[in-house]
Amino acid sequence: MNQAANANLFSRLFDDLDDPNRLAIETVDGRHISYGDLVARAGQMANVLVSRGVKTGDRVAAQTEKSVSGLVLYLATVRAGAIYLPLNTAYTLNELDYFITDAEPSLVVCDPSKAEGIATIAAKVGAKVETLGPDGKGSLTDAADQASTAFATVMRGNDDLAAILYTSGTTGRSKGAMLSHDNLASNSRSLVGYWRFTTKDILIHALPIYHTHGLFVASNVTLFARASMIFLPKFDPDLVIRLMGRATVLMGVPTFYTRLLQNPALSKETTSHMRLFISGSAPLLADTHREWAARTGHAVLERYGMTETNMNTSNPYDGERVPGAVGHPLPGVSVRVTDPETGKEIARDSIGMIEVRGPNVFKGYWRMPEKTKSEFRDDGFFITGDLGKIDDKGYVHILGRGKDLVISGGFNVYPKEIESEIDAMPGVLESAVIGVPHADFGEGVTAVVVCHPDAGVSETSILKGLDGRLAKFKMPKRVFIVDELPRNTMGKVQKNVLRDMYEDIYARR
Ligand code: AMP
Repeated sequence: MNQAANANLFSRLFDDLDDPNRLAIETVDGRHISYGDLVARAGQMANVLVSRGVKTGDRVAAQTEKSVSGLVLYLATVRAGAIYLPLNTAYTLNELDYFITDAEPSLVVCDPSKAEGIATIAAKVGAKVETLGPDGKGSLTDAADQASTAFATVMRGNDDLAAILYTSGTTGRSKGAMLSHDNLASNSRSLVGYWRFTTKDILIHALPIYHTHGLFVASNVTLFARASMIFLPKFDPDLVIRLMGRATVLMGVPTFYTRLLQNPALSKETTSHMRLFISGSAPLLADTHREWAARTGHAVLERYGMTETNMNTSNPYDGERVPGAVGHPLPGVSVRVTDPETGKEIARDSIGMIEVRGPNVFKGYWRMPEKTKSEFRDDGFFITGDLGKIDDKGYVHILGRGKDLVISGGFNVYPKEIESEIDAMPGVLESAVIGVPHADFGEGVTAVVVCHPDAGVSETSILKGLDGRLAKFKMPKRVFIVDELPRNTMGKVQKNVLRDMYEDIYARR
Protein backbone atom coordinates (compact mmCIF):
# COMPACT_ATOMS: atom_id res chain seq x y z
CA MET A 1 0.00 0.00 0.00
CA ASN A 2 1.20 3.46 -0.86
CA GLN A 3 2.20 5.29 2.27
CA ALA A 4 3.81 8.30 0.56
CA ALA A 5 2.20 11.55 1.67
CA ASN A 6 0.57 12.21 -1.68
CA ALA A 7 -3.07 11.49 -1.01
CA ASN A 8 -6.05 13.30 0.37
CA LEU A 9 -9.48 11.90 -0.08
CA PHE A 10 -10.72 15.26 -1.29
CA SER A 11 -7.64 16.51 -3.15
CA ARG A 12 -9.47 16.59 -6.46
CA LEU A 13 -12.29 18.58 -4.90
CA PHE A 14 -9.98 21.08 -3.23
CA ASP A 15 -7.31 21.48 -5.86
CA ASP A 16 -8.63 20.29 -9.19
CA LEU A 17 -12.13 21.71 -9.49
CA ASP A 18 -13.25 21.89 -13.10
CA ASP A 19 -16.44 23.91 -12.64
CA PRO A 20 -16.52 26.06 -9.47
CA ASN A 21 -19.94 27.46 -10.39
CA ARG A 22 -21.66 24.08 -10.35
CA LEU A 23 -24.24 23.73 -7.57
CA ALA A 24 -23.11 21.51 -4.68
CA ILE A 25 -25.69 22.04 -1.94
CA GLU A 26 -29.09 23.58 -1.72
CA THR A 27 -30.75 24.17 1.64
CA VAL A 28 -34.45 24.14 2.49
CA ASP A 29 -34.27 27.85 3.31
CA GLY A 30 -33.22 28.54 -0.27
CA ARG A 31 -29.43 28.92 -0.06
CA HIS A 32 -27.38 27.70 -3.02
CA ILE A 33 -23.77 26.73 -2.36
CA SER A 34 -21.60 26.10 -5.38
CA TYR A 35 -18.57 23.79 -5.44
CA GLY A 36 -16.38 26.89 -5.53
CA ASP A 37 -18.11 28.26 -2.38
CA LEU A 38 -17.75 24.94 -0.63
CA VAL A 39 -14.02 24.75 -1.30
CA ALA A 40 -13.53 28.38 -0.27
CA ARG A 41 -15.42 27.82 2.98
CA ALA A 42 -13.48 24.62 3.68
CA GLY A 43 -10.31 26.70 3.16
CA GLN A 44 -11.46 29.34 5.64
CA MET A 45 -12.41 26.77 8.22
CA ALA A 46 -9.18 24.81 7.73
CA ASN A 47 -7.29 28.05 8.48
CA VAL A 48 -9.29 28.42 11.71
CA LEU A 49 -8.51 24.83 12.72
CA VAL A 50 -4.79 25.39 12.21
CA SER A 51 -4.94 28.67 14.12
CA ARG A 52 -6.54 26.76 17.03
CA GLY A 53 -3.56 24.42 17.12
CA VAL A 54 -4.97 21.49 15.11
CA LYS A 55 -2.03 19.63 13.57
CA THR A 56 -1.73 16.80 11.05
CA GLY A 57 -3.11 13.60 12.61
CA ASP A 58 -4.96 15.43 15.42
CA ARG A 59 -8.59 14.61 16.06
CA VAL A 60 -11.36 17.18 15.67
CA ALA A 61 -14.49 16.05 17.51
CA ALA A 62 -17.87 17.49 16.54
CA GLN A 63 -21.27 17.16 18.14
CA THR A 64 -23.43 19.58 16.19
CA GLU A 65 -26.90 19.59 14.66
CA LYS A 66 -26.94 18.98 10.91
CA SER A 67 -26.00 22.07 8.88
CA VAL A 68 -23.93 22.91 5.82
CA SER A 69 -21.30 24.40 8.16
CA GLY A 70 -21.16 21.02 9.90
CA LEU A 71 -20.35 19.38 6.57
CA VAL A 72 -17.78 22.09 5.84
CA LEU A 73 -16.14 21.30 9.18
CA TYR A 74 -15.68 17.69 8.03
CA LEU A 75 -14.17 18.82 4.72
CA ALA A 76 -11.92 21.35 6.47
CA THR A 77 -10.66 18.78 8.97
CA VAL A 78 -9.74 16.34 6.21
CA ARG A 79 -8.19 19.17 4.21
CA ALA A 80 -6.01 20.14 7.16
CA GLY A 81 -4.75 16.54 7.42
CA ALA A 82 -6.57 16.01 10.71
CA ILE A 83 -9.03 13.25 11.67
CA TYR A 84 -12.76 13.99 11.80
CA LEU A 85 -14.69 12.52 14.71
CA PRO A 86 -18.44 13.10 14.46
CA LEU A 87 -20.58 12.34 17.48
CA ASN A 88 -24.25 11.40 17.61
CA THR A 89 -26.27 14.48 18.62
CA ALA A 90 -28.19 12.36 21.14
CA TYR A 91 -25.14 11.74 23.34
CA THR A 92 -25.31 13.31 26.80
CA LEU A 93 -22.40 15.04 28.53
CA ASN A 94 -21.82 11.89 30.53
CA GLU A 95 -21.40 9.87 27.32
CA LEU A 96 -19.34 12.60 25.67
CA ASP A 97 -16.88 12.37 28.53
CA TYR A 98 -15.98 8.84 27.41
CA PHE A 99 -15.57 9.75 23.72
CA ILE A 100 -13.53 12.87 24.37
CA THR A 101 -11.20 11.37 26.93
CA ASP A 102 -10.78 8.25 24.75
CA ALA A 103 -10.12 10.08 21.48
CA GLU A 104 -8.17 13.01 22.95
CA PRO A 105 -9.07 15.53 20.25
CA SER A 106 -7.25 18.85 20.11
CA LEU A 107 -10.50 20.65 19.26
CA VAL A 108 -14.13 19.96 20.13
CA VAL A 109 -16.92 21.70 18.21
CA CYS A 110 -20.32 21.65 19.91
CA ASP A 111 -23.71 23.29 20.12
CA PRO A 112 -23.55 26.63 21.99
CA SER A 113 -25.98 25.24 24.61
CA LYS A 114 -23.47 22.53 25.55
CA ALA A 115 -20.30 24.65 25.45
CA GLU A 116 -19.99 25.03 29.19
CA GLY A 117 -20.34 21.34 29.99
CA ILE A 118 -18.05 20.35 27.12
CA ALA A 119 -15.40 22.86 28.22
CA THR A 120 -14.97 20.98 31.51
CA ILE A 121 -14.50 17.68 29.68
CA ALA A 122 -12.28 19.17 26.97
CA ALA A 123 -10.02 20.68 29.64
CA LYS A 124 -9.16 17.16 30.83
CA VAL A 125 -7.41 16.43 27.51
CA GLY A 126 -6.27 19.99 26.80
CA ALA A 127 -8.71 20.43 23.89
CA LYS A 128 -10.00 23.80 22.75
CA VAL A 129 -13.76 24.33 22.24
CA GLU A 130 -15.62 26.15 19.45
CA THR A 131 -19.36 26.35 18.88
CA LEU A 132 -21.65 25.70 15.94
CA GLY A 133 -25.43 25.94 16.30
CA PRO A 134 -28.30 24.35 14.33
CA ASP A 135 -28.42 27.52 12.20
CA GLY A 136 -24.86 26.75 11.08
CA LYS A 137 -23.44 29.68 13.03
CA GLY A 138 -21.23 29.95 16.10
CA SER A 139 -17.76 30.95 17.22
CA LEU A 140 -16.31 28.61 14.57
CA THR A 141 -18.03 30.29 11.63
CA ASP A 142 -17.48 33.77 13.12
CA ALA A 143 -13.76 33.07 13.01
CA ALA A 144 -13.97 31.43 9.56
CA ASP A 145 -15.71 34.51 8.11
CA GLN A 146 -12.54 36.48 8.89
CA ALA A 147 -10.09 33.86 7.59
CA SER A 148 -8.45 33.52 4.19
CA THR A 149 -10.04 31.14 1.69
CA ALA A 150 -6.60 30.01 0.49
CA PHE A 151 -5.34 26.84 2.12
CA ALA A 152 -2.72 24.37 0.94
CA THR A 153 -4.36 20.94 1.27
CA VAL A 154 -2.30 18.72 3.57
CA MET A 155 -1.40 15.51 1.75
CA ARG A 156 -1.47 12.23 3.64
CA GLY A 157 -0.67 8.59 2.93
CA ASN A 158 -3.47 6.35 1.67
CA ASP A 159 -3.51 4.48 4.98
CA ASP A 160 -3.47 7.59 7.14
CA LEU A 161 -6.69 8.27 8.99
CA ALA A 162 -9.34 10.68 7.74
CA ALA A 163 -12.05 9.86 10.29
CA ILE A 164 -12.86 7.93 13.42
CA LEU A 165 -16.49 6.90 13.88
CA TYR A 166 -17.57 5.34 17.13
CA THR A 167 -19.76 2.27 16.73
CA SER A 168 -23.15 2.47 18.40
CA GLY A 169 -21.95 0.09 21.11
CA THR A 170 -25.12 -1.81 21.97
CA THR A 171 -22.92 -4.38 23.75
CA GLY A 172 -20.01 -3.17 25.78
CA ARG A 173 -18.03 -0.01 25.19
CA SER A 174 -18.38 1.91 21.99
CA LYS A 175 -15.31 1.45 19.80
CA GLY A 176 -13.69 4.04 17.52
CA ALA A 177 -13.46 2.65 13.96
CA MET A 178 -10.39 4.15 12.27
CA LEU A 179 -11.06 4.96 8.61
CA SER A 180 -8.28 5.92 6.21
CA HIS A 181 -8.28 8.28 3.25
CA ASP A 182 -8.21 5.27 0.93
CA ASN A 183 -11.00 3.44 2.82
CA LEU A 184 -13.33 6.37 2.17
CA ALA A 185 -12.11 7.39 -1.28
CA SER A 186 -12.11 3.87 -2.76
CA ASN A 187 -15.64 3.22 -1.50
CA SER A 188 -17.00 6.50 -2.82
CA ARG A 189 -15.44 5.97 -6.27
CA SER A 190 -16.89 2.49 -6.37
CA LEU A 191 -20.40 3.61 -5.40
CA VAL A 192 -20.43 6.50 -7.89
CA GLY A 193 -19.85 3.96 -10.67
CA TYR A 194 -22.10 1.21 -9.30
CA TRP A 195 -25.08 3.50 -8.77
CA ARG A 196 -24.37 5.52 -11.95
CA PHE A 197 -24.05 8.91 -10.27
CA THR A 198 -23.39 11.83 -12.64
CA THR A 199 -23.19 15.62 -12.39
CA LYS A 200 -26.91 15.70 -13.22
CA ASP A 201 -27.95 13.94 -10.03
CA ILE A 202 -29.77 15.71 -7.24
CA LEU A 203 -29.79 13.76 -3.99
CA ILE A 204 -32.37 14.30 -1.27
CA HIS A 205 -30.12 14.31 1.80
CA ALA A 206 -32.35 13.71 4.82
CA LEU A 207 -29.96 11.58 6.93
CA PRO A 208 -27.91 12.70 9.93
CA ILE A 209 -24.26 13.47 9.16
CA TYR A 210 -22.63 11.86 12.21
CA HIS A 211 -23.07 8.35 10.78
CA THR A 212 -21.49 6.45 7.87
CA HIS A 213 -24.70 6.58 5.85
CA GLY A 214 -25.28 10.35 5.76
CA LEU A 215 -21.65 11.43 6.00
CA PHE A 216 -19.83 9.05 3.70
CA VAL A 217 -22.37 7.26 1.52
CA ALA A 218 -24.63 10.24 0.87
CA SER A 219 -22.25 13.23 1.08
CA ASN A 220 -19.01 11.71 -0.26
CA VAL A 221 -20.73 10.02 -3.17
CA THR A 222 -22.50 13.25 -4.16
CA LEU A 223 -19.28 15.27 -3.89
CA PHE A 224 -17.17 12.67 -5.72
CA ALA A 225 -19.71 12.68 -8.57
CA ARG A 226 -19.89 16.50 -8.56
CA ALA A 227 -23.63 16.04 -8.26
CA SER A 228 -25.73 18.19 -5.95
CA MET A 229 -27.75 17.57 -2.83
CA ILE A 230 -30.72 19.15 -1.13
CA PHE A 231 -29.77 19.27 2.53
CA LEU A 232 -32.70 18.69 4.90
CA PRO A 233 -32.18 19.23 8.64
CA LYS A 234 -34.20 16.08 9.27
CA PHE A 235 -36.48 13.60 7.52
CA ASP A 236 -39.85 15.13 6.67
CA PRO A 237 -42.03 12.84 4.50
CA ASP A 238 -44.22 15.62 3.02
CA LEU A 239 -41.21 17.67 2.05
CA VAL A 240 -39.33 14.68 0.69
CA ILE A 241 -42.26 13.81 -1.57
CA ARG A 242 -42.47 17.40 -2.79
CA LEU A 243 -38.73 17.42 -3.55
CA MET A 244 -39.01 14.20 -5.56
CA GLY A 245 -40.54 16.33 -8.29
CA ARG A 246 -37.08 17.70 -9.14
CA ALA A 247 -34.60 15.38 -7.38
CA THR A 248 -33.18 12.13 -8.78
CA VAL A 249 -31.98 9.99 -5.85
CA LEU A 250 -33.07 9.30 -2.27
CA MET A 251 -30.87 7.48 0.22
CA GLY A 252 -32.75 6.32 3.26
CA VAL A 253 -32.97 3.95 6.17
CA PRO A 254 -35.92 1.52 5.98
CA THR A 255 -38.08 3.68 8.26
CA PHE A 256 -37.97 6.43 5.60
CA TYR A 257 -39.62 4.02 3.18
CA THR A 258 -42.25 2.74 5.61
CA ARG A 259 -43.13 6.30 6.60
CA LEU A 260 -43.30 7.46 2.99
CA LEU A 261 -45.61 4.54 2.23
CA GLN A 262 -47.99 5.84 4.90
CA ASN A 263 -48.22 9.13 3.02
CA PRO A 264 -51.16 9.30 0.57
CA ALA A 265 -49.18 11.65 -1.72
CA LEU A 266 -46.72 8.88 -2.65
CA SER A 267 -47.53 7.64 -6.14
CA LYS A 268 -46.13 6.77 -9.58
CA GLU A 269 -46.64 10.41 -10.57
CA THR A 270 -44.92 11.98 -7.56
CA THR A 271 -41.88 9.70 -7.98
CA SER A 272 -41.64 9.84 -11.77
CA HIS A 273 -38.70 12.27 -11.80
CA MET A 274 -36.63 10.03 -9.50
CA ARG A 275 -34.18 7.52 -10.93
CA LEU A 276 -33.05 5.70 -7.80
CA PHE A 277 -34.20 4.84 -4.27
CA ILE A 278 -31.49 3.33 -2.06
CA SER A 279 -31.96 1.73 1.35
CA GLY A 280 -29.51 0.57 4.00
CA SER A 281 -28.32 0.63 7.62
CA ALA A 282 -31.01 -1.84 8.69
CA PRO A 283 -33.01 -4.58 6.94
CA LEU A 284 -35.69 -3.43 4.51
CA LEU A 285 -38.59 -5.85 4.85
CA ALA A 286 -39.32 -7.75 1.64
CA ASP A 287 -42.93 -6.60 2.05
CA THR A 288 -41.87 -2.96 2.11
CA HIS A 289 -39.83 -3.53 -1.05
CA ARG A 290 -42.85 -5.05 -2.83
CA GLU A 291 -45.29 -2.45 -1.59
CA TRP A 292 -42.93 0.32 -2.74
CA ALA A 293 -42.61 -1.25 -6.20
CA ALA A 294 -46.38 -1.63 -6.54
CA ARG A 295 -47.06 1.93 -5.43
CA THR A 296 -44.27 3.79 -7.28
CA GLY A 297 -43.02 1.46 -10.00
CA HIS A 298 -39.47 1.70 -8.53
CA ALA A 299 -37.57 -1.26 -7.07
CA VAL A 300 -35.67 -0.02 -3.99
CA LEU A 301 -31.96 -0.80 -4.28
CA GLU A 302 -30.82 -2.26 -0.97
CA ARG A 303 -27.19 -2.27 0.05
CA TYR A 304 -25.22 -3.46 3.06
CA GLY A 305 -22.45 -1.78 4.99
CA MET A 306 -21.26 -0.93 8.44
CA THR A 307 -19.25 1.73 10.24
CA GLU A 308 -16.11 -0.43 10.14
CA THR A 309 -16.30 -1.37 6.49
CA ASN A 310 -18.15 1.36 4.59
CA MET A 311 -20.30 -0.34 1.94
CA ASN A 312 -19.73 -4.03 1.19
CA THR A 313 -22.51 -5.17 -1.11
CA SER A 314 -25.24 -3.70 -3.25
CA ASN A 315 -28.12 -4.93 -5.34
CA PRO A 316 -27.37 -4.30 -9.01
CA TYR A 317 -28.32 -1.14 -10.87
CA ASP A 318 -29.49 -2.99 -13.96
CA GLY A 319 -30.07 -6.56 -12.82
CA GLU A 320 -32.67 -7.91 -10.43
CA ARG A 321 -32.99 -6.08 -7.08
CA VAL A 322 -34.04 -8.96 -4.87
CA PRO A 323 -36.37 -8.11 -1.97
CA GLY A 324 -34.79 -9.10 1.34
CA ALA A 325 -31.28 -9.51 -0.16
CA VAL A 326 -28.40 -7.04 -0.06
CA GLY A 327 -26.91 -7.90 -3.44
CA HIS A 328 -23.39 -8.66 -4.62
CA PRO A 329 -19.98 -7.62 -3.27
CA LEU A 330 -18.90 -4.23 -4.65
CA PRO A 331 -15.93 -4.25 -7.06
CA GLY A 332 -12.73 -5.02 -5.17
CA VAL A 333 -14.59 -6.28 -2.08
CA SER A 334 -14.50 -9.98 -1.15
CA VAL A 335 -17.32 -11.45 0.92
CA ARG A 336 -17.35 -14.98 2.32
CA VAL A 337 -19.49 -16.91 4.75
CA THR A 338 -17.71 -19.01 7.36
CA ASP A 339 -18.31 -21.34 10.25
CA PRO A 340 -18.13 -18.89 13.18
CA GLU A 341 -16.13 -21.36 15.29
CA THR A 342 -13.48 -22.51 12.81
CA GLY A 343 -13.46 -19.61 10.37
CA LYS A 344 -13.64 -22.11 7.47
CA GLU A 345 -15.64 -21.06 4.43
CA ILE A 346 -18.93 -22.95 4.16
CA ALA A 347 -21.07 -24.06 1.23
CA ARG A 348 -23.37 -21.76 -0.74
CA ASP A 349 -26.75 -21.21 0.88
CA SER A 350 -25.49 -22.29 4.31
CA ILE A 351 -25.82 -19.80 7.14
CA GLY A 352 -22.69 -18.58 8.87
CA MET A 353 -20.58 -15.55 9.72
CA ILE A 354 -20.16 -12.88 7.06
CA GLU A 355 -16.55 -11.81 6.58
CA VAL A 356 -15.25 -9.09 4.27
CA ARG A 357 -11.93 -7.96 2.90
CA GLY A 358 -11.11 -5.03 0.63
CA PRO A 359 -9.86 -1.47 0.43
CA ASN A 360 -13.08 -0.40 2.22
CA VAL A 361 -12.28 -2.24 5.45
CA PHE A 362 -11.12 -0.05 8.36
CA LYS A 363 -7.69 0.06 9.97
CA GLY A 364 -8.79 -1.18 13.37
CA TYR A 365 -10.33 0.12 16.58
CA TRP A 366 -8.78 3.23 18.11
CA ARG A 367 -6.42 2.24 20.93
CA MET A 368 -7.83 -1.31 21.08
CA PRO A 369 -5.17 -3.47 19.40
CA GLU A 370 -6.34 -6.69 21.07
CA LYS A 371 -9.97 -6.15 20.10
CA THR A 372 -8.86 -5.33 16.55
CA LYS A 373 -6.76 -8.49 16.33
CA SER A 374 -9.61 -10.69 17.52
CA GLU A 375 -11.95 -9.39 14.82
CA PHE A 376 -9.67 -10.06 11.85
CA ARG A 377 -8.67 -13.43 10.39
CA ASP A 378 -4.99 -14.00 9.55
CA ASP A 379 -5.71 -13.55 5.83
CA GLY A 380 -7.11 -10.05 6.40
CA PHE A 381 -10.86 -10.79 6.43
CA PHE A 382 -12.86 -8.77 8.96
CA ILE A 383 -15.40 -10.75 10.98
CA THR A 384 -18.47 -8.55 10.65
CA GLY A 385 -20.57 -10.11 13.41
CA ASP A 386 -23.44 -10.42 10.91
CA LEU A 387 -24.90 -13.82 10.17
CA GLY A 388 -25.96 -14.52 6.64
CA LYS A 389 -25.62 -16.60 3.51
CA ILE A 390 -24.78 -16.26 -0.17
CA ASP A 391 -27.40 -17.81 -2.43
CA ASP A 392 -26.78 -19.71 -5.67
CA LYS A 393 -27.08 -16.51 -7.69
CA GLY A 394 -24.39 -14.86 -5.57
CA TYR A 395 -26.74 -12.55 -3.65
CA VAL A 396 -25.82 -11.95 -0.03
CA HIS A 397 -28.58 -12.25 2.59
CA ILE A 398 -28.24 -10.87 6.12
CA LEU A 399 -29.94 -12.86 8.83
CA GLY A 400 -29.12 -10.58 11.75
CA ARG A 401 -26.30 -9.84 14.14
CA GLY A 402 -24.50 -12.89 15.55
CA LYS A 403 -25.21 -11.63 19.04
CA ASP A 404 -28.93 -11.73 18.24
CA LEU A 405 -28.79 -15.43 17.38
CA VAL A 406 -31.01 -17.40 19.74
CA ILE A 407 -29.73 -20.71 21.06
CA SER A 408 -32.64 -22.67 22.44
CA GLY A 409 -32.17 -26.19 23.78
CA GLY A 410 -28.78 -26.26 22.02
CA PHE A 411 -30.28 -25.44 18.61
CA ASN A 412 -29.47 -22.32 16.64
CA VAL A 413 -32.56 -20.27 15.89
CA TYR A 414 -32.15 -17.47 13.34
CA PRO A 415 -34.54 -14.69 14.30
CA LYS A 416 -35.02 -13.54 10.68
CA GLU A 417 -36.57 -16.88 9.69
CA ILE A 418 -39.24 -16.62 12.38
CA GLU A 419 -39.75 -12.89 11.85
CA SER A 420 -40.38 -13.52 8.13
CA GLU A 421 -43.08 -16.10 8.98
CA ILE A 422 -44.76 -13.77 11.44
CA ASP A 423 -44.49 -10.71 9.15
CA ALA A 424 -46.27 -12.64 6.40
CA MET A 425 -49.38 -13.14 8.58
CA PRO A 426 -52.39 -10.95 7.89
CA GLY A 427 -52.61 -7.93 10.16
CA VAL A 428 -48.95 -8.04 11.21
CA LEU A 429 -46.82 -4.96 10.50
CA GLU A 430 -43.47 -6.13 11.82
CA SER A 431 -41.84 -8.29 14.43
CA ALA A 432 -38.64 -8.89 16.35
CA VAL A 433 -37.58 -12.26 17.68
CA ILE A 434 -35.20 -12.41 20.63
CA GLY A 435 -33.72 -14.95 23.02
CA VAL A 436 -34.65 -14.55 26.67
CA PRO A 437 -33.06 -16.53 29.55
CA HIS A 438 -35.00 -19.76 30.17
CA ALA A 439 -34.21 -22.35 32.83
CA ASP A 440 -34.83 -25.41 30.60
CA PHE A 441 -33.78 -24.20 27.19
CA GLY A 442 -31.01 -21.72 27.97
CA GLU A 443 -32.86 -19.18 25.88
CA GLY A 444 -36.55 -19.10 25.10
CA VAL A 445 -37.54 -17.92 21.63
CA THR A 446 -39.67 -14.82 22.19
CA ALA A 447 -41.53 -12.77 19.59
CA VAL A 448 -42.48 -9.11 19.91
CA VAL A 449 -45.04 -8.12 17.30
CA VAL A 450 -46.56 -4.89 15.98
CA CYS A 451 -49.90 -5.26 14.21
CA HIS A 452 -52.71 -3.18 12.73
CA PRO A 453 -54.81 -1.96 15.66
CA ASP A 454 -58.05 -3.53 14.40
CA ALA A 455 -56.65 -6.74 12.97
CA GLY A 456 -57.49 -8.88 16.00
CA VAL A 457 -54.00 -10.40 16.12
CA SER A 458 -53.17 -12.06 19.44
CA GLU A 459 -50.52 -14.31 20.96
CA THR A 460 -52.79 -17.29 20.33
CA SER A 461 -53.48 -16.40 16.70
CA ILE A 462 -49.76 -15.99 15.97
CA LEU A 463 -48.81 -19.26 17.62
CA LYS A 464 -51.61 -21.00 15.74
CA GLY A 465 -50.41 -19.51 12.48
CA LEU A 466 -46.86 -20.73 13.08
CA ASP A 467 -47.87 -24.21 14.13
CA GLY A 468 -46.79 -26.71 11.50
CA ARG A 469 -44.71 -24.11 9.64
CA LEU A 470 -41.77 -24.11 12.03
CA ALA A 471 -39.86 -26.90 13.76
CA LYS A 472 -40.90 -27.16 17.42
CA PHE A 473 -37.56 -25.79 18.71
CA LYS A 474 -38.04 -22.61 16.68
CA MET A 475 -41.55 -21.92 17.97
CA PRO A 476 -41.80 -18.81 20.17
CA LYS A 477 -42.53 -19.68 23.78
CA ARG A 478 -44.25 -16.31 24.19
CA VAL A 479 -45.55 -13.65 21.81
CA PHE A 480 -46.01 -10.05 22.93
CA ILE A 481 -48.13 -7.57 20.98
CA VAL A 482 -46.78 -4.00 21.25
CA ASP A 483 -47.50 -0.62 19.64
CA GLU A 484 -43.99 -0.15 18.28
CA LEU A 485 -40.48 -1.61 18.37
CA PRO A 486 -37.66 0.41 19.97
CA ARG A 487 -35.40 1.85 17.27
CA ASN A 488 -32.23 3.92 17.24
CA THR A 489 -31.85 7.03 15.09
CA MET A 490 -30.71 4.96 12.09
CA GLY A 491 -33.91 2.93 12.24
CA LYS A 492 -32.32 -0.20 13.66
CA VAL A 493 -34.49 -2.25 16.00
CA GLN A 494 -32.74 -2.27 19.38
CA LYS A 495 -32.94 -5.93 20.33
CA ASN A 496 -30.79 -5.28 23.40
CA VAL A 497 -33.55 -3.00 24.71
CA LEU A 498 -36.15 -5.71 24.04
CA ARG A 499 -33.99 -8.34 25.76
CA ASP A 500 -33.77 -6.09 28.83
CA MET A 501 -37.53 -5.50 28.80
CA TYR A 502 -38.43 -9.18 28.68
CA GLU A 503 -35.42 -10.47 30.59
CA ASP A 504 -37.27 -12.19 33.42
CA ILE A 505 -40.50 -13.30 31.76
CA TYR A 506 -39.67 -17.01 31.98
CA ALA A 507 -38.35 -16.64 35.52
CA ARG A 508 -41.65 -14.98 36.48
CA ARG A 509 -43.78 -17.89 35.39
P1 AMP B 1 -23.67 0.65 11.51
O1 AMP B 1 -22.25 0.37 11.86
O2 AMP B 1 -24.38 1.47 12.53
O3 AMP B 1 -23.81 1.20 10.14
O4 AMP B 1 -24.41 -0.75 11.55
C1 AMP B 1 -23.99 -1.78 10.70
C2 AMP B 1 -24.91 -2.95 10.81
O5 AMP B 1 -26.21 -2.61 10.31
C3 AMP B 1 -24.47 -4.11 9.97
O6 AMP B 1 -23.44 -4.86 10.60
C4 AMP B 1 -25.76 -4.88 9.80
O7 AMP B 1 -26.04 -5.66 10.94
C5 AMP B 1 -26.79 -3.76 9.71
N1 AMP B 1 -27.14 -3.45 8.31
C6 AMP B 1 -26.67 -2.48 7.52
N2 AMP B 1 -27.26 -2.51 6.30
C7 AMP B 1 -28.13 -3.55 6.33
C8 AMP B 1 -29.05 -4.12 5.40
N3 AMP B 1 -29.22 -3.61 4.19
N4 AMP B 1 -29.76 -5.19 5.79
C9 AMP B 1 -29.62 -5.73 7.03
N5 AMP B 1 -28.78 -5.23 7.96
C10 AMP B 1 -28.05 -4.16 7.62
